[in-house]
Amino acid sequence: MSKNISNECPVCSHEGIHIRSFSKKNIMSELEDYFAEKPPDKIEIIDYEIQQCKNCSLEYAFPLEAGSQSFYQWVTTRAGYYPETRWEWFAVIEQINKRERQNSISILDVGCGGGNFLEIAKKLSNTRIVGLDTTPDSIEQCQARGFEVYCETIESFFNKFPSESFNYVLSFHCLEHISQPKQFIASMLSVLKPMGSIFISTPYSPMSVESDWFDILNHPPHHLLRLSKKSYEELAHQLGCEIKFYMPPANSVMARTINNFSLSKFGKNQTVSKLRLLQELIKNPTLFLKIFFGQLMRNRVNGSIAADIVLVELKLSSKLV
Ligand SMILES: [Zn+2]
Repeated sequence: MSKNISNECPVCSHEGIHIRSFSKKNIMSELEDYFAEKPPDKIEIIDYEIQQCKNCSLEYAFPLEAGSQSFYQWVTTRAGYYPETRWEWFAVIEQINKRERQNSISILDVGCGGGNFLEIAKKLSNTRIVGLDTTPDSIEQCQARGFEVYCETIESFFNKFPSESFNYVLSFHCLEHISQPKQFIASMLSVLKPMGSIFISTPYSPMSVESDWFDILNHPPHHLLRLSKKSYEELAHQLGCEIKFYMPPANSVMARTINNFSLSKFGKNQTVSKLRLLQELIKNPTLFLKIFFGQLMRNRVNGSIAADIVLVELKLSSKLV
């Protein structure tokens, strides 16, 4: 496997500064804490660092090397890995429904998984919906549900079907796993009809839990990129796109404080009763208050407290069309 030896930002090519090291041993131990289960040795973890771009604040893995197939095979089969539903699926459907449309429209879902979004999108009238995924099991699941899907990356799909184009090209929770974000979105743009829109969702960085609990699944080898508003704006600028941000309402400051307090004391995969939590709070009121005041300072997007997920819409800048 070739290693990316440059530590340049994969969005704007500026220099990154080292902010954290992760040894293979740290990663294995964090995964074990997260899932309350020892990960198998065969998942081939390597040592990573986290760099932060001095220009666009993107945090990225160094080397920019995705987790192995055996890592993904293990992690994607843990209970609760794939959510049943996502806020952004409905946010995208709402946007599509709101807009003036031609007689028929087409949608491409890049990284469609088992087809849960395709199932929701099929309710749109007069719409062709196509899914892409590179996992054969996911493709089989989609085919069994009657969807038009291809076992291709966006690049290989475009090479095979260069005349295909879509009004909407979507990708939910893929970008953060990808080492070449600009190329990935440029490929999405190459299959977009004129005046079409790309919708992308990822975790929003920093997430509200991060100040108080370490989330290994938002770090390499799982997530290679951690995107802030500034890094998305730079990405759009680099690609000649206009960008719009959408976010669900954030949880209340008290809900975030209780969640983070519980995570910091008990970890992720533990069931904690209210009584147990209260006993812990009585023992550690200072920690609770520290978390509370930290959450009061959480940054804002579109004038509202930042949620943990962001949906962005990219369109080729009208100046360039
Ligand atoms: Zn950058």
